[in-house]
Amino acid sequence: MPDDSVIRRVAELREQLNYHNHRYYVLDHPVISDYEYDRLFQELKELEDQYPELVAPDSPTHRVGGDPAEGFVQVEHRHTMLSLGNVFNDESLEAWHRRVKNLLDDAEFSMTCELKIDGLAVSLVYVDGVFVQGATRGNGTVGENVTDNLRTIRSIPLMLQGQPLPYLEVRGEVYMPVEEFRRLNREQEERGGQTYANPRNTGAGTIRQLDPKVTASRNMQIWVYSLNDAGNSPYPSGQWETLEWLQSLGFRVNPLNRLCNTLDEVKDYYREWVGKRHDLPYEVDGVVVKVNPFNFQNSLGVVGREPRWATAYKFPAERAVTRLKEIGINVGRTGSLNPYAILEPVIVSGATVQHASLHNEEDIRRKDIRVGDWVTVERAGEVIPQVVGPIRERRTGEEVDFSMPEACPECGTGVVKPEGEAMHRCPNSSSCPAQFFELLKHFVSRGAMDMDGLGEQWCRILIDKGFVNTVADLYYLEKGSLLELDRMGDRLATKILDNIEASKTRPLPRILFALGITHVGAEVAELLTQRFASVDQMAQAADEDLIGIDGIGPKIAESIYDYFQVEGNLAVIEKLREAGVKLHHDIQIVDPTDLPWHGLTFVVTGTLSTMTRREAESRIKALGGSATSSVTRKTAYLVAGNSPGSKLDTANRVGTTVLDEEAFTSLLESPLEALQALPEAQA
Ligand code: NAD
Repeated sequence: MPDDSVIRRVAELREQLNYHNHRYYVLDHPVISDYEYDRLFQELKELEDQYPELVAPDSPTHRVGGDPAEGFVQVEHRHTMLSLGNVFNDESLEAWHRRVKNLLDDAEFSMTCELKIDGLAVSLVYVDGVFVQGATRGNGTVGENVTDNLRTIRSIPLMLQGQPLPYLEVRGEVYMPVEEFRRLNREQEERGGQTYANPRNTGAGTIRQLDPKVTASRNMQIWVYSLNDAGNSPYPSGQWETLEWLQSLGFRVNPLNRLCNTLDEVKDYYREWVGKRHDLPYEVDGVVVKVNPFNFQNSLGVVGREPRWATAYKFPAERAVTRLKEIGINVGRTGSLNPYAILEPVIVSGATVQHASLHNEEDIRRKDIRVGDWVTVERAGEVIPQVVGPIRERRTGEEVDFSMPEACPECGTGVVKPEGEAMHRCPNSSSCPAQFFELLKHFVSRGAMDMDGLGEQWCRILIDKGFVNTVADLYYLEKGSLLELDRMGDRLATKILDNIEASKTRPLPRILFALGITHVGAEVAELLTQRFASVDQMAQAADEDLIGIDGIGPKIAESIYDYFQVEGNLAVIEKLREAGVKLHHDIQIVDPTDLPWHGLTFVVTGTLSTMTRREAESRIKALGGSATSSVTRKTAYLVAGNSPGSKLDTANRVGTTVLDEEAFTSLLESPLEALQALPEAQA
């Protein structure tokens, strides 16, 4: 006789399962994950197996689904709509197969493998070949009449092909395609409404609408998978033959189903689809394995709510519900502050998950996620786990709203949030430890300060050893300390130090680019140095001065301005100056309209032997000209190096003057005279 605690637990589990069945089947709005539900269900089943005296006919373990919802006309099913037994691993699948084989006196049998569509089971009745009634499974014996809603699904035939049968009842799974689900959620987001949690419950809710117009507005689909009644018409011999026959009648039957002769083939099918499930345009949660021959199915029969001749080999659940303990901040390589959820550990897609992505503050607000919430976590395939949203029904009032920290958690610098951007940022790109490795790699790279010999690995080592904490520290490196490093020889150390020394006199645009200011690429650096003669002048510039420059918009201006407000950045610049790095132009800045090539457009193409294309373009710009990438009638000169390609043809066609490298070089040497020698180009 079970003791009181067992009796109480059984009652508790039944109450909980009934509550969750109602939320899932009637309201289409579950508040726990399928995994949690399955655990409660399993616990109850085990207690009932252990204490048969506690078994009750109304226990959730004996019932299918939930009672039909109010507002729908009820339909009594001619044949009970069952559920399916589950297996979660090869051993349980083998045990199921052994049991079946034993019951069949060791006979051999084939099996169908069908993708288990995560949707809503419906029965469809045809009289004289015409669709007359569609119903949900409901509690298995009584379902809801959703005929009008199902009629709006284009893939449900309203009339069958071929000789009309007097009576036919089939079953299938109605589902919302993943793309449709996303579209619906995008629409909700645009409207500022709450997004839906998953395609399964949204799809079920769509079919169980009192207004068929709502169903019609969503692109729902069906896969038909079983024959339940064909009246007096002859039946196919098995499930596989049935699927073929149903297809010939005009039903949508999944072409990915497979007939298997051995259990190994079944396992192969399972493994194939567990890996490829995300390639499908709909959600599947396992493989349904069915004994194929109908005579075997009949002799196996049904126990409780499950047929013995079939089982569902479930895929690992990809969604779970757990508690959001805290929101952490991770500072990205570019200074973005990325919030992430710190979770009560939970199993998702077969792995324990403790952290999940939360995107940005706006997203957290929009989804109304609070610290302490129960949340749905999703991990599809290889994708990083995501927090889908909170389960508001489980709130206690203790949950706390989240706000972004005002200081960078890595370096304490005040955080900025540029206009129009979703991410908060730490503007201390020079010395914030989270950002420093990326910056250092960039600083030493070819297009920037070009410190040949200092590859990515050395950057890592110099940081790890504590030799450099800011880019300016490079200029204070000593040979003795470099030689302490593993695999660093005298030759390499000398080369690195020579190259560091040589980098001190790089042109102003290069150092500006090397500083790694957000949005300041080589092009923008070039534009800035046409207006400002030094880094100091730039640091003094107001937002308006920057926006005034052609090619520099408010976003770039703001980012430059923010950069020079950070003390850490200014300290690095100071240290660079002290080390002797040139932070100014050698040439005098003049009014751009006074420059000799002002108003002239150049295109550089092909390979030049004395300079790179980028250098050629910089020199054109330094003389006031502009350098673009395509030849038009407005192009004054095409500078054509070796293998010029199609731009040369265009230039010849539109009449642009073509300069070879020699002509271009002499033009650079005496810009004014050369221009006079080519008067026709003054467009
Ligand atoms: P099931 O979903 O495990 O399997 C049976 C169903 O599979 C059938 O009714 C049919 O709709 C579907 N199916 C899809 N493709 C099929 C095919 N090719 N052949 C046959 N059937 C196919 O069982 P169930 O009774 O529908 O639902 C129980 C499950 O629902 C639970 O295990 C749990 O995951 C979930 N649930 C969750 C909650 C919750 O609160 N989260 C509550 C209730 C139920």
